Order: sequence, then structure tokens, then C-alpha cells
Amino acid sequence: MARKILVDEEMDQTNKEEAHYDFDLFVIGAGSGGVRAARFSANFGAKVGICELPFHPISSEVIGGVGGTCVIRGCVPKKILVYGATFGGELEDARNYGWELNEKLDFNWKKLLHKKTDEIIRLNGIYKRLLSNAGVKLFEGEGKIVGPNEVELTQLDGTKLSYSAKHILIATGSRAHRPLIPGQELGITSDEALSLEDLPKRAVVFGGGYIAVEFASIWRGLGADVNLFFRRELPLRGFDDEMRAVVARNLEARGVNLHAQTNLTELVKTDNGIKVITDHGEEFIADVVLFATGRLPNSKRLNLEAVGVELDNTGAVKVDEYSRTNIPKAITCDHLNNQFFLMKLHVLPFFLGKCFQKTVFGGESSKADYSNIPCAVFSIPPLSVVGLSEEQAIEQANSDVLVFTSTFNPMKNTISGRQEKTVMKLVVDQETDKVLGASMCGPDSPEIMQGIAVALKCGATKAQFDCTVGIHPSAAEEFVTMRSVSRRITVSRKSKTNP
Ligand code: NDP
Repeated sequence: MARKILVDEEMDQTNKEEAHYDFDLFVIGAGSGGVRAARFSANFGAKVGICELPFHPISSEVIGGVGGTCVIRGCVPKKILVYGATFGGELEDARNYGWELNEKLDFNWKKLLHKKTDEIIRLNGIYKRLLSNAGVKLFEGEGKIVGPNEVELTQLDGTKLSYSAKHILIATGSRAHRPLIPGQELGITSDEALSLEDLPKRAVVFGGGYIAVEFASIWRGLGADVNLFFRRELPLRGFDDEMRAVVARNLEARGVNLHAQTNLTELVKTDNGIKVITDHGEEFIADVVLFATGRLPNSKRLNLEAVGVELDNTGAVKVDEYSRTNIPKAITCDHLNNQFFLMKLHVLPFFLGKCFQKTVFGGESSKADYSNIPCAVFSIPPLSVVGLSEEQAIEQANSDVLVFTSTFNPMKNTISGRQEKTVMKLVVDQETDKVLGASMCGPDSPEIMQGIAVALKCGATKAQFDCTVGIHPSAAEEFVTMRSVSRRITVSRKSKTNP
């Protein structure tokens, strides 16, 4: 009886505490993850507030916009430019299909830019409506954390508001960083690259990751002279080595000049453009120099350390498997952690936002499962992968690894005459027959890989791939017709060797 009274008192106390919060959840940052978490938490009946900086295509410490990086200055505008750039090659390919492109073809960059900006403004409006339809209160201004359950908002007119919240979700994402070399202020980041007034005739891209490869493809596809500099032997570290070589080959074949194992050391303004100096002593002149050397967490202005939230040395918030900070009950971090930076811009925040709302308001503990997350690099043609690369499989598997590859001329190229092979790959655990990873570089690979990702998530075996009927004629059918092992890598737990 005494215990019952105590429990009632404890509950009473908890209810009183909950009742005095202004919000059940306050989200700082209205990008893909923040918006998702806010809307779905509100659907569970939570009282939710969210804040975001004012909209502009180019971000800064004080500029952002509902929709976040993915929608405003990342995946969406990038993909629009990729579509625009792909037409260049398509028009060339059309000739052998009977299209007489006799008149001079002009490309109007300003028109594409204008259409792109219209589209992101439209999406910004949609995201705002999604929030208001879900009953989420949106504040325009800068949020910071002033206590475990306290946020302070600085609105556009400088006035400050303070709110208490039972949970605070940090969903502020990341921002491009520039390498510290002399003249770095002459270069741009992907934010500006997505909103350039003029299409560059001579572009230099520095970096070998997603953004570097994608912009090299975009600018080259639109007719620019592109030099791509990266510090490794191949671009796209972390992807399957064989596929990295395929991407490099395709970039070169489409006219991008690759400079492997080369760093930029200085940029100098000249009358003729920006002089770019490399660590091999070479000099190039460019209209635009893009730094695509990674992104850093947007955590500086959130006051996190002052309230005791632990950060790592890059400024990323340290979180547990539920994305909780070291003050777990109150402050949760959606995607401001290092795992985010290894993954796609849109998908992971979106996915973590979903886990968050289920765990905190849905009564269902939901950890993010990072296995078999498909991703795509929107180079032209694109690379898409899911699961393990060959190198990762060798590292992680306990039995031999079987590699199946297919390199073929896509049917469209037989008529167009384009000399560009599509390459596909499956990596299989010999003992269990489980498909551990799949990759494809070729047209439509992201569209194809999404379906393959479902198969891998279900634990599909190679035998199940083999007994699936292919759609004929398609490139995708190659994934279910690869019968001969290209190589077998002997893996032993003690010593893993590649014979
Ligand atoms: P990435 O992390 O993909 O690549 C950064 C590149 O810069 C790497 O090649 C890296 O080299 C190089 N680099 C880093 N520091 C230096 C330096 N000091 N000097 C020379 N080179 C350097 O970053 P991105 O900027 O391309 O993209 C940021 C993130 O955005 C991605 O990781 C991804 O999460 C996301 N994104 C996703 C896209 C998609 O899903 N399609 C598209 C665009 C972005 P090294 O490999 O040697 O470290």
C-alpha cells in the first residue's frame, strides 16, 4: 500500500513536471531529419516547436531555410543540375537514333538556374505546410540551448524568446568547409556552386568525394573544361575499389581531366581568372574553383558545451546508439554525429528522425540500423551501391568471398555508339551464399539499386538472385544472370589472403 502511494506521488510529480514544459519536443533545425521527427512526433500527440534560420540558397551561420541542406542546397538542386547536364550526352547519343540536330544548340544556364531556384522555393513552401498541417509551431530564427530543457530563440528582428521543452532535438546538419590554403577565399563551396550567376568555362574541383565527382560531371556535361584534383589514387574513397576505377574511367572518357594524388597549395587572383597552384608545381587558370573537401558539423553556435553536451574533436555531438547525447533524457541529436557524415545527406537524417519519434513518442525503442543502406553518387553515369564493397567483405567475412562481375555495353550504346560500359558486381559469402554487397555504375543504377537493397535487407542469397526472372531486355536483368565467379578470395580468420 505504501509503495502504491509512493508510485502515485512519483507519477503525480512527473505529470506536474511535464505539464510545466512549453513543448514536449523542441527541434533546432528544420531539414529533412528535423522536419520528419517534428511532424511524426506531433502525430503521436506531442506538442512540438521547431526553429530554422531564414531561407536563402547559400547558407551561412545565420542563413538556412526550412527544408535544409538536402532540399535547398544539396541533393535536390544538385539532381536538377545533373538532369540538365545529362541532356548534353543524350543529344549526342540521339544522332544515331535518327535525330537530325542540325541547328546550333544553345544552352541557357540562367534559365536552368531560375527553374532550379523556383523548385527549391516550392519545396520550402511544401515543407512549411507539412509542419503546420501536423500542428508543429515553426519559429524563424536562431535557436540555442541554454539548459538541459531550455531553448532560446533569437528572431529575425533581434527579439529573444525562451521556451522549455521536455526533449530537445538537435538537427542542424553540417556545412562545407574550406581547406586552409593561401587564397582560399577565392574558391567556392557547393552552396555557391549551386547558385552561380554564370556557368564557368574553366572549372577546377578539389576533392575526391561525392560532391567533387558530381560537380565535375555537371560542369563537364554542360560544356566546361574541368580539372579534378584529389589526394588519393582514385576518387571516392570508401567505395569498392573496382567501382572507383570505373567512375574514374568514365569521368575521363567524358572529358574530365583527372589529377590523382595532387593537392592544391595556393589560389591567386589574376586578370585572366584564378591561378591554381598544385603541390607538383603545376599551374592552371580557372573561372571557378570548387572546394569539395568535406563538411563539418553545424554545432558552433548552439551553446552545447556550455550546457554540458559532449562533442568530439570535429565538433560532432557524441551520441549513443539511440542518437542520445550524454544528457539523454533531454537532448537528443538527430544527425549531428559522425555516422551522418559517412552517409547520404537526405536519407540518414530522414531515417534517424523516424527512429527518434518512434522511440520517444511512439513507445517503441528504435535504434538506427546502419546495415545495407543503399547510396548513390550522381556522377554521369551514376554509381550506386548497397552492402559491403569487396574490400569490406574480405575484411569482415569468415568464409571465402565470391565476386561476380558483369561488364557490358548497354543496349542503348550499341546504336548511339557511346563507348561506355556498364559495370555490375555482387559480393557473396561462399559459406552462407548470402549476397553481402552489390554495386553498379551505369545509367539508372540508383533506380535499380533501390530494389536490390530490399533483397539484401531481406538477407537474399545468390541462389535466390539466380532463380529470379530477369526483365528482358534491361540492364537490371544482369543482376540475376551473373553465373560465373569472377574471383574467389580465400579468407581465413587468422590470415586473410587474396591468392
Ligand atoms: P566527402 O567526405 O564525400 O569527400 C571529401 C573529399 O575531400 C575526399 O575525397 C577527401 O579525401 C577530400 N579531402 C578532405 N580534406 C582534404 C584536404 N585537407 N585536402 C585534400 N583533400 C581533402 O565530402 P563531400 O564534400 O564530397 O560531401 C560531404 C558529404 O555530403 C558526403 O560525405 C555525403 O555525406 C554528403 N553528400 C551525399 C551525396 C549523395 O548521397 N549523392 C551527394 C553530395 C554530398 P580523402 O578521401 O582522402 O579523405
